[in-house]
Amino acid sequence: MQKLTNRSVQINRDPMTFGEKIYVPAILKGLSITLGHIFKKKATVSYPEEKRPFSPVFRGLHVLNRDEQGRERCTACGLCALACPAEAITMEGAERKPGEENLYREEKYAAKYEINMLRCIFCGFCEEACPKDAIYLSETVMPSNYSRRSMIYKKEDLLIPHPKKQENTQ
Ligand code: SF4
Ligand code: SF4
Repeated sequence: MQKLTNRSVQINRDPMTFGEKIYVPAILKGLSITLGHIFKKKATVSYPEEKRPFSPVFRGLHVLNRDEQGRERCTACGLCALACPAEAITMEGAERKPGEENLYREEKYAAKYEINMLRCIFCGFCEEACPKDAIYLSETVMPSNYSRRSMIYKKEDLLIPHPKKQENTQ
């Protein structure tokens, strides 16, 4: 039969020699391999005290962005939900009322905006689809949780803090 690779090994079925029967050379060989690894650089890290650097293209938790005046950028156009291959995004649009110009950038805004993180595959398509620069994937690792409900992130969880309110608390 024709071989697929040249990695096959012929098994030696000869009777064991005296040295093989007492296992001492095999044990010493094993110990030398272990000792060799003791002085090598560790492959593991002591997480969470020590953290590995992420790849520059790492995509973490979503953030809903505000403009420089602190107004919500999202206009509930639905393009991110349409682009999402996991159907993880849902939203409800609402009309901006007079006097709310300081809260929402456009005439329409997302009254409700949810991302189901259990569905999300962190592909970043929502970020690419957004014409308003309203959503991006940050470098924050999504925390794990015990309940399914807490994995559905609401608008309040995703919105970045208001810059002016932050200044006042500092
Ligand atoms: S990162 Fe991908 S899967 Fe997650 S919400 Fe955005 S488009 Fe959907
Ligand atoms: S995040 Fe962007 S793409 Fe999604 S609804 Fe808001 S404005 Fe549209």
